[in-house]
Formats: sequence, structure tokens, C-alpha cells
Amino acid sequence: MANQVTRTYVASIHNHQQVCEDLDSLGFAASKLWNVARWTCDRIWDETGTIPDHGALKAYLKNNEHYADLNAQSSQAILEELAEAFDSWYTLRGNGDKKANPPGYRKHGDDHPRSTVTFKEDGFKHDPDHDRIRLSKGRNLKDGRQDFILCEYAVDPDVTVQNVQQVRAVWTGTDWELHIVCNVERDDPDPPGDRVAGIDLGICNFAAVAVGDDALLYPGGALKEDDYYFQKQRAKCDDSSSRKAQRLDRKRGERRTHFFHAVSKDIVAECAARNVGTIVVGDLTGIRENTDWGDHGNLDLHGWAFDNFTQMLEYKAAEYGISVERVDERGTSKSCGSCGTIDDSQRVERGLYVCDECGLVANADVNGAENIRQKVLPSLACDGGDRDNGWMAQPAVRLFDTSTGRIAPQEQVTCEP
Ligand SMILES: [Zn+2]
Repeated sequence: MANQVTRTYVASIHNHQQVCEDLDSLGFAASKLWNVARWTCDRIWDETGTIPDHGALKAYLKNNEHYADLNAQSSQAILEELAEAFDSWYTLRGNGDKKANPPGYRKHGDDHPRSTVTFKEDGFKHDPDHDRIRLSKGRNLKDGRQDFILCEYAVDPDVTVQNVQQVRAVWTGTDWELHIVCNVERDDPDPPGDRVAGIDLGICNFAAVAVGDDALLYPGGALKEDDYYFQKQRAKCDDSSSRKAQRLDRKRGERRTHFFHAVSKDIVAECAARNVGTIVVGDLTGIRENTDWGDHGNLDLHGWAFDNFTQMLEYKAAEYGISVERVDERGTSKSCGSCGTIDDSQRVERGLYVCDECGLVANADVNGAENIRQKVLPSLACDGGDRDNGWMAQPAVRLFDTSTGRIAPQEQVTCEP
């Protein structure tokens, strides 16, 4: 049966150098508007004891100078996002989560960071024949000569960008990229089976996948080597805003995106071959939101990277009829995937998780992935522990082959002399 579904495709911007400054202005304006709105919420709270909803915020702020820096729909999207952030904070507090924090101000030192800018129907024009998207500036930032920002984009070669509903400009920490939200008409394939796979995303092992009796490991070595190489090259540039430095940043971004595509594609294919119908991913968003914006550049970047990766996973999995769920991954590294014992003092040594209770010895990331898997699957493990857990210690390693740009089992990867 044909179905309307929403897909978000991550696109890099070919003509980044031409549009970067304009996108910066919009990103800064978005942060300023967020901060003014945040301040307004405090003031109204002090006077009335309630937090305004986005409609009230709009009434208060529509004459603010920063509101007109952006397309009206883009400004509204920021106020909606703030109101939603307050709502989810309320809900968490209502559920007894005392650690939940209200949405904060967006600051980076004394400066404003580049916030995501959302463009709705009035705010963009898509030219599918030339892979271009025109983004609107607000009244204040139009300078007559150039009323809009023309971005030339590149997406995953496996996808077609059409029926665009929304475009978001997202700052990754090194450059801008576009998240293109499309309506896709497609046949809903039946899922390959009803098994569940859990994925733990990390730095050292980029991904560990647990399927219940089998595990896969995707080392992050290629990504780390790239980061190291580009950091070294970047350090040689005298001026960090030079053309060369910008080209290096872009190259690094492209290579990372390629790695993400290769790994997500392989995971989905391997899961389909194992009759998986649901993939569960540990969500790091909670961890990121409890951290100050900008102060932890690396952590923030990683949160962003995992988001990107999960989005790719979602639309690739959908082609097989596999659904992807995100679950809070807190605590998944501390409990035993076999007997469920929680050990706060658990120390991971040489990448192994060892359970004093049941004697499990597992690859630590596979153990994490198995715990994530069990978050949607009522634990099969608490049945006396006579299940064979050998698979948790011996994941099949799947490596990114830098010479072919593809993933292959460890023994098949060719080493360049
Ligand atoms: Zn145990």
C-alpha cells in the first residue's frame, strides 16, 4: 500500500564559501531571538506566575528587531521550539524528574552561537533540476541586491529530493549543512521479521549492534584517523578563516558523512538479513541537553553527529520496512545484559564487561547494545541465566575500508601497503 511518510535528508552545501556569511547572520539572529524570548518568559513568569505559550510570545516579540531579521515563519519556529522546550520541562518535572532543567540561554562565551534556522513553505524555494534551494532572509537582513541565499546542495546519491516540506540550516561546529524534510510516497514493505536489534553508538567503537544471539561491531578507527589527519593539516593553516582551512573543514565533513552512509547502510542490510523488524538506538540527546551550549564543543558535536547518523539509519531502514526507535541510553553501560544486575562500580577493562553476579564476560559496547535492545523487549535474560551468552564476547567486526569506501568483514579488508 502506498503511504505518505516524512524523510529528513542531510545535505552538504557545495557553495559553502559564498553562503556561509549570510547563514551566519541568520544563525546569530536566531540565537538572539531565542534569548530575547527566553528573557521575556522569565519576566512574564515573574509577573503572572505562568510561562507564555508560543502564540503569546509571538504577540510580545513580533515587533522586536530580531524577529524581522528572519523570515516570519523562521522566527515563529524559534518561538515554537522554546515553548515546546518549556512544555517538555514541565512534563518531566510533573513526572518527578528533579534534575530536569528549563531551557537555557544560547551563549558561547560573550557571543551568540549559530542556532538552527528553520524555513517553512514561505521561506524556501526548491529547484530540483539544479539541486539548489533558495532560503529567505528577514526584512532587516535583505540588502536589495541579494534578498535570498542560494544554496547548492548534495545529498546521499541513493535518494531523490522532492516534495520538500521544510528546510533547516544547521551549524555542525565546523560548517553549515541543510536538513531537507520531504514528503515521500512509497510502498510500505513488510518488515523482514519481528526480531529486535539494539545499537550502542560510541566514539571508540562507532557502533555496536546486538541482535540477541549475534553481534556486530563497527570500529570508529577510520573516523578517528581522519579527524587526526585533518586536525594536523588544519593546524598548519595560519588563518582559520582562510580558503584552505575552510576547504579542509568541508573535506573532513564530507568524509565523515560518507562514513556515516556506509555504516548505516551496512547495519540496515545486516539487520534485514537477520529478520529484524525494529532497530533501537540509544539516544544521547538527554546527555547533550543537560550540558551548557557551546562550552563542550566536542560533546555537542558528537551529539550532533549521532543525530545525523540516526536520521540516515531511519530512512535507510524504512526502505526495508524496519522501524527505528530512540530510547534513553542512561544506565545501559552499568547493567549486565545477561542477568540484569546493575553494578555502579563496573569498570570496563580492555573493552570487556565482566559481571560478578552471573559471570558474563562481554564486549562492553555489545553489552550496552544488548541493554538498549532489551529496553523495548521485555528482558529475556531474567530466566535463570542458562542462555548461551558467548556471542556477546565475540562480535563480528565490520570495518570501513578506506580504499573502497565500503564496509567489509574484518578478514576481507585489504591493507594498502
Ligand atoms: Zn550478570
